[in-house]
Amino acid sequence: MQIESANALKKLPPYLFVEIDKAKRQARAEGKDLIDLGIGDPDTPTPKHIIESLYKAAKDPANHRYALDAGMPAFKNEIALWHKKRFKVTLDAQAEILPLLGSKEGLAHTPFAFLNKSDVALVPDPAYPAYRNATILAGGTPYFMPLFENNAFLPDLKKIPASVLKKTKLMFLNYPNNPTGAVAPKRFLQEVVKFAQKNKIIICFDMAYSEMCYDNYSAPSIFEISGAKEVAVEYHSLSKTYNMTGWRLGWVCGNKDIVAPIAKFKSNMDSGVFQAVQVAGITALKTKKEFLEKMCKMYEERRDILVSGLEKLGWSIKTPKATFYLWTKIPHKMNSMALCSMIMEKAGIVATPGVGFGKFGEGYVRFALTQDKKRIKEAVKRLSFL
Ligand SMILES: *Cc1c(COP(=O)(O)O)cnc(C)c1O
Repeated sequence: MQIESANALKKLPPYLFVEIDKAKRQARAEGKDLIDLGIGDPDTPTPKHIIESLYKAAKDPANHRYALDAGMPAFKNEIALWHKKRFKVTLDAQAEILPLLGSKEGLAHTPFAFLNKSDVALVPDPAYPAYRNATILAGGTPYFMPLFENNAFLPDLKKIPASVLKKTKLMFLNYPNNPTGAVAPKRFLQEVVKFAQKNKIIICFDMAYSEMCYDNYSAPSIFEISGAKEVAVEYHSLSKTYNMTGWRLGWVCGNKDIVAPIAKFKSNMDSGVFQAVQVAGITALKTKKEFLEKMCKMYEERRDILVSGLEKLGWSIKTPKATFYLWTKIPHKMNSMALCSMIMEKAGIVATPGVGFGKFGEGYVRFALTQDKKRIKEAVKRLSFL
């Protein structure tokens, strides 16, 4: 029998990291010492107190059964408290907050909750691939908003044609931004909220890197902008903040009429987050701020080593105020895929080609600061052949 996947799956653009992955596996098999600055996955472990909390909660049989689809009230209360403390934003814990199996799950289910055939979702380019792919899988059409360096990697909303806006229902935005490391000033967020109100567009604001900020910068929530609650939801994640990528825990919050359809769709796809993990999530959100200060300091030091090292090699780099990525323009006449293949082969360094995040990512490469200082220094040394 000839097996045929669904057309929507076939429509997904090819996975561009195949070559890099293959080369990586081969280099490892040959025993090559690779320095992997490719993946955005923290290299340090989940803090002990969070693991202890899971361990205790896992022993309680009350947590072994199906979780409530809508999430544990106690976890939602803790999330509301966190938003209040962190952003001075008030959320109704029960109606305006929905726990997720990681924020990717919620981001990817959102187009299914809102898009009808031929509806458009505005998607940044370059970007985290889930926005585009989920839009396509849901039968919608992505419209790409290029993020250019000369506009501080913010989309130019005035450039989106009226004919597109007529069909647009969703807009994805992500600040602090993966892959560019860019941040969104409040005046841009104000412009976004006005734009969404005027054009009746739901804003999906991805804040996976909200706590990974440097140089006294603090990333704003979209709900700090007046009127945002009318049009927006915000996605949060414990993955990068508390080194919990494998745990799968996040939440979406904001307008209850946007949260409710996501909850409805989701309740037909999964049965909620393991309650012991939600209990550990409560513990995570109560973590003393010293943990985050230390973590940010660690990434900041790594960032400074890599920035100054690459600058000495003639790369021009804008030091990012947030995220654990360096998004750098390739100073050579070479596309991003070729550059990444070359540095892997010649220096054993894994980086991510910009084109993997969309066509406007071509000409750039992303380094993730997910190796310790010693390894990053070694990476700089090995790159000196460039
Ligand atoms: C890592 C990441 C996420 C996903 O986080 P999970 O909560 O682990 O699903 C979402 N958005 C961006 C931009 C990311 O880089």
